[in-house]
Amino acid sequence: MEFRQSSKLSEVCYEIRGPVIEHANALEEAGHSVLRLNTGNPALFGFEAPEEILQDMIRMLPRAHGYTDSRGILPARRAVAQRYQTLGLEVDVDDVFLGNGVSELVSMAVQALLEDGDEVLIPAPDFPLWTAVTNLAGGKAVHYLCDEQADWYPDLDDMAAKITDRTKAVVIINPNNPTGAVYPKEIVEGILDLARRHGLMVLADEIYDQILYDDAVHHSAAALAPDLVVLTFCGLSKTYRVAGFRSGWLVVTGPKQHARNYLEGLTMLASMRLCANAPAQYAIQAALGGRQSIHELTAPGGRLREQRDVAWRKLNEIPGVSCVKPKGALYAFARIDPSVHKIHDDEKFVLDLLLREKIQVVQGTGFNWPSPDHFRILTLPHADVLETAIGRIGRFLGGYRQ
Ligand code: PLP
Repeated sequence: MEFRQSSKLSEVCYEIRGPVIEHANALEEAGHSVLRLNTGNPALFGFEAPEEILQDMIRMLPRAHGYTDSRGILPARRAVAQRYQTLGLEVDVDDVFLGNGVSELVSMAVQALLEDGDEVLIPAPDFPLWTAVTNLAGGKAVHYLCDEQADWYPDLDDMAAKITDRTKAVVIINPNNPTGAVYPKEIVEGILDLARRHGLMVLADEIYDQILYDDAVHHSAAALAPDLVVLTFCGLSKTYRVAGFRSGWLVVTGPKQHARNYLEGLTMLASMRLCANAPAQYAIQAALGGRQSIHELTAPGGRLREQRDVAWRKLNEIPGVSCVKPKGALYAFARIDPSVHKIHDDEKFVLDLLLREKIQVVQGTGFNWPSPDHFRILTLPHADVLETAIGRIGRFLGGYRQ
């Protein structure tokens, strides 16, 4: 008897933890040390969990052993609701769902929405979970282009041209993974305007909303469009550096009377997985109410800001490589000029780099970027590690032929 994967998975692809990982694991098993620049996991790079969060979780642990309400514990939902109320939004505790990270909530939100063949507008490049989950839910991921020449902002004309009568929702990832773009108000408003005109649900992935550099300002889609149904996703993984706790939230805003039936479905999916991990729910109130140490890391002189600077500078020093300066998030998305280095298969490039230099990055096509001419690295390692690693990537690329 052979067990085969479901045909539902045939359109599902998730390269960040893709096949190259097996090779990286094998290298480590053989005694090599591999620099893993593939997953945005701050804990791997010496970022500690903030003490106030740990203390609160430890204190609450003896009382966190039971299932909670499917949407999450009240103090945490209240803390999340207040976070959005300060943006001027009307948010009630009943509008908040807690989940095992944003990932679980993305999956629930998309599954609850789509009929087979329904289309979702998703950026290219994207955080590929959105595409994978849409396809798994029987929908069709339709990618709108983000324009590298325009600081990676979404191309609104391309987005408009791709709207059909099957389009159900538009995904905004701002600040963006992988590009680090932070969208100006006009761009967010432009997307919201299309959503308004075409009756689309807005799915706003704002997990990096506090990870901003230089003069970047985050514009919350929900705050700019109180007249639209907007689902905003955020959580503790990045801003509070506790990705392993698996703690996130989804906030529903706008004219909820137009989404009553949808929200019943979402509530049912939330109860089917019983609840989010309870100890991690207790981290939310402590995190949102306490010292926001992320700002010290992203301010001038802060660790994240310095690392972003080094990554961006070193990438641009490689002949034939360029990188738009990331204004937010934890990544740099570099372009390999095809007239200098012709790469036909970027997954092979990434594998060859791993095997030769023991450095693991992610190929651009893994983010649903249409051509094999980009790769993404993390800006999480210390500056000296980044400097050396990018130097080695440059030397490797200099002698690389496909
Ligand atoms: N959304 C974006 C844009 C991300 O980059 C990530 C993780 O890298 C997630 C969502 C998932 O985060 P979580 O750890 O909350 O599941």
